[in-house]
Amino acid sequence: MANDTALLRCRSCKALNRVPVKKLTQNPLCGKCKALLDFPFQAVAATAASFDQELASWLETVLVVFWAKGNDLWKKIEPAVADIAFAQAGRLKVIKVDLDAEPGLALLFSVQTAPTFLTFRDSKQLGRLDGAPREASELAQWVQSSMS
Ligand SMILES: [Zn+2]
Repeated sequence: MANDTALLRCRSCKALNRVPVKKLTQNPLCGKCKALLDFPFQAVAATAASFDQELASWLETVLVVFWAKGNDLWKKIEPAVADIAFAQAGRLKVIKVDLDAEPGLALLFSVQTAPTFLTFRDSKQLGRLDGAPREASELAQWVQSSMS
């Protein structure tokens, strides 16, 4: 069920569209107004001003990543995060938060180290991973477990 379809809100008419996952790569159109249903294929940067909206506007799972410039652990895991955002496009939105630039958001989620990963659905936190896993595949598996 939830595994086979993605719920996407049309940006033009705001209608909800349930799209089979295998159709996500075929430029799905809104059932109501026929506009192209677009969704992020890469991480979206958020600030304190945009965070709630970025989180609430997405109906599927959200992965929030707190990252920091010059952080070696983040540099190592960043390509894996990009891969996940691309591979799970339509079912997952990745939101990037600059830990140093957003102390308010860091405080809100008690994030002290980069990278820190949080998963959300319906604006409710599901999971949390402090620090980068040793293997990129572990991150992908952890994200996957939040999506089922
Ligand atoms: Zn529409």
